[in-house]
Amino acid sequence: MELSGLQIFKYLPAAKKAENSNCKKCNCPTCMAFALKLAKNQIAIDACPYAPDELKEKLEYSQKQPQKTVEIDGLKIGGENVLYRHEKTFINPTAIAIMLDCSKPDWENTLKRIENFEITRVNETFKVDLIIYKNSTENLKSNIRNISEEEFQKLQLYNATDKDFVLTSSKLIDIRTKAIQEKNEKYSNPTYVKFESGQDLNLLCAQASFYLCKYANMLIFEDFDETLISTLLTLRQNIFTDPQKPLQVEAKIYEFNNPDENSIIFMTTNFALTFFAVASELENLNVPSYLVVTPAEGMSVLTAWSAEKFTAKMVAKTLKKFNLAEKVKTRKIIIPGLLAHMKQELEEEIKDFEIVVGTIEAYAISDFVKSLDQN
Ligand code: SF4
Repeated sequence: MELSGLQIFKYLPAAKKAENSNCKKCNCPTCMAFALKLAKNQIAIDACPYAPDELKEKLEYSQKQPQKTVEIDGLKIGGENVLYRHEKTFINPTAIAIMLDCSKPDWENTLKRIENFEITRVNETFKVDLIIYKNSTENLKSNIRNISEEEFQKLQLYNATDKDFVLTSSKLIDIRTKAIQEKNEKYSNPTYVKFESGQDLNLLCAQASFYLCKYANMLIFEDFDETLISTLLTLRQNIFTDPQKPLQVEAKIYEFNNPDENSIIFMTTNFALTFFAVASELENLNVPSYLVVTPAEGMSVLTAWSAEKFTAKMVAKTLKKFNLAEKVKTRKIIIPGLLAHMKQELEEEIKDFEIVVGTIEAYAISDFVKSLDQN
């Protein structure tokens, strides 16, 4: 963990009411100002001639990277600082690699399948991260990042693969714990686990999922299976989400089923999970519609409302920015049912539109739209 300004200050003369307190030799007005700058790496510790060795040692230790980062043609592996995502965030998602044996008769077909494989989920598109090719005299020509097995073996990575699941998982946990908690140099290389060809797919999926959560930096498969990789990439996207940055989509007006000026209008915030739930319902409705997505720092509707990121004034400003009143003749906006209490407030602020309270859950939108037709 890095030292805070306050933790640094405790070692400086002013905190101890000692001689030279706030002497300004470091070009800072006070010892506290120096401590705050040092915590942000904006000044060197040597700028203070009175900084004790104990502080220098503590600082050196706190700045030591627990796990190294290994880079393969832009793919970063390792570099983690915490054991649990909620402590700060994970840095580099577990890389998914395929070991491609170019001596196998069908290797070119497998290569094509790997190249054609991709999944798109919550606004992100994923492919296999790396091909490690072996038994080839030539460099592999592929649009997927690749490396020969010989070159791969030279990387500073730790092979944590053991003869069974219990041993491998214990090794992964032990290495990561020693790297993070003790900053032990011996355990600072990123880890990988390799799965041999011909294993039971269900077992493979269960074991690989565990290793992805705790704590493999890379998983290597000798067989390529689209369903397995899709599952792992989906899990990976969830595990490696930064808890400080909610998944969000662009705030704008989205169109479904070729809407015109008389189409119905829904509204929600730019929280990705809400957006995709509502968008998929609107897409499947076969009714032309608009979805106005307001900027709310990726917060869900109720959170945004309680954090004052979804206020009547902000909604009015967004509609004006999107030019909605000029774009459509429709004069009704359907707001999420969870914001029913805002109806009056919104109507007072947004003079051009009537506010209709919609459903609490996205799955109920279809019945709700049918009920609108009947009215
Ligand atoms: Fe404090 Fe050291 Fe700066 Fe003097 S040089 S003000 S003692 S931090």
